[in-house]
Amino acid sequence: MTEVLRGLGASAGVATGPAYRLADPPRLPPPHPVTDPDAELDRAYAAIDAVCRDIGERAAAAAEPTTAEILRVQAALAGDRTLRDGVAMAVRAGHPAPHAVAAVLAEHRSALLAAGGLLAARAADLDDLRDRAVAHCLGLPMPALPDPGHPFVLLAVDLSPADAAMLDPSRVLAVVTSAGSFVSHTAILARARGLPTVVACAGALDIRDGTPVTVDGATGRVAVGADEPAGAAPRRSRIEAVTGDLRGRTADGHPVALLANIGGVAEWTGGTAEGVGLFRTEMLFQHHIDAPTEAEQTAAYAEVFRALPDCPVIVRTLDAGADKPLPFLREDHEPNPALGIRGLRVARRREDILRTQIAAIAAAAAGCRARVSVMAPMVTTVAEAAQFAALCRDAGLPTVGAMVEVPAAAVRAVEILQVVDFLSVGTNDLSQYTFAADRRSGELSDLLDPWQPALLSLVALCAAAGAAVGRPVGVCGEAAADPDFAVLLVGLGVSSLSMAPPAVPAVRAALAARTLDDCRRAAQAALAARDPAAARAAVRL
Ligand code: PEP
Ligand code: MG
Repeated sequence: MTEVLRGLGASAGVATGPAYRLADPPRLPPPHPVTDPDAELDRAYAAIDAVCRDIGERAAAAAEPTTAEILRVQAALAGDRTLRDGVAMAVRAGHPAPHAVAAVLAEHRSALLAAGGLLAARAADLDDLRDRAVAHCLGLPMPALPDPGHPFVLLAVDLSPADAAMLDPSRVLAVVTSAGSFVSHTAILARARGLPTVVACAGALDIRDGTPVTVDGATGRVAVGADEPAGAAPRRSRIEAVTGDLRGRTADGHPVALLANIGGVAEWTGGTAEGVGLFRTEMLFQHHIDAPTEAEQTAAYAEVFRALPDCPVIVRTLDAGADKPLPFLREDHEPNPALGIRGLRVARRREDILRTQIAAIAAAAAGCRARVSVMAPMVTTVAEAAQFAALCRDAGLPTVGAMVEVPAAAVRAVEILQVVDFLSVGTNDLSQYTFAADRRSGELSDLLDPWQPALLSLVALCAAAGAAVGRPVGVCGEAAADPDFAVLLVGLGVSSLSMAPPAVPAVRAALAARTLDDCRRAAQAALAARDPAAARAAVRL
């Protein structure tokens, strides 16, 4: 029987194959009394040096710049003077080498976790240093990826940069981690390699080695025990190359724009979608300590616009905060960051950053043929939408939208549409805020199911607002990537769907198989359903 686990889709694509778990880290033996502290310290330093060398060599050999940079940072952590000093103190206090290294790295790790956000996401780097240094001290092999002799889906708590750098797409079909986030190294490096990846997937580590799984890196769904005939060959889906007309439409010709969610030009796969419906600009700057300058941003946006001549590109202004912290926009410690200063709210404190970004988008758009529009994340009130629209229009960007990610915005969709040109519903956050359920929580995944009738009602409100005011309403949350959900959205009156590029062909096919009336009937049946399962079943009929 198939069991379904849910996590966060972190790198789009679908893969099926047997799952294998990353080996457990080396265990510390009971400490022995230290009789020769100098020799013990030499042992500890030799381990640290070996780890430094190993990671440095991998950094030098890494083909991708992202991988190389991440490994260089990890090598720098390993070579840090304070680490050696701390280890020396611990050894002189009577700890054996492996215990001293583990204790000092545990302290550094706690400091990173306490700092939160992006720094906390680096905790896995230190765990990996510890495991490697402890293994070296104990004369054990350095931790490595499993090698079952055939392609497999990798399961892990999280991947260190060193592990992630070893991900060979010809051996590893997909990655599922129980921890991690959209900005963890696992996610960054898996995206760079085009590996379907689901992070923060509770229950992933309970999957037994060899069990067939199907991983959907767009929706975060992991089917365990596979919806598959026995013996089906391991595989990873490829993006269907479409030549000719890319426009989405129902069987009776009702047009529905099928757009891509991207975080940079590398994710734009021409020949799949009609344009970009969500350009997550924060992904470009997630490692920047200082705010990117206007010139730097203009160059980055122009690169994307140049790749999409005559195509629509919806640029989202920086969505910083909560699960997507940016080092240059770190706020003082917030007890509840998801309900704090994030998305457009950052402009309350740093309007300069928003203004610079808007100026950069306008400058980049002026020199390119892409049809650029701009939208704000986390809009909550009509006043916020109006202020944002005024800033953009003053800067020469005439087409402005608001994301609907907060129930308050859905409820006032008509009024918001009177001050902006379009809405884009972000179902990921709209679920989180409607159900008061952290979007990273595997335990609450039933509440985060986009088929929840309450979420459908809010999306229906937005679509109806668009129809009433005569302005487009799109959906750019991960739910748009589910072909059945796409049918439902079109039936509700949504005019464009934006998703991870690999999901587009299946959505195009699902729409082409239904008339607009079929979609409308399915949507009405789903709205009348009592629970997610019934809503889903109503559309699948
Ligand atoms: C969303 O919240 O649905 C969305 C598209 O934005 P993000 O996933 O980047 O928060
Ligand atoms: Mg969002």
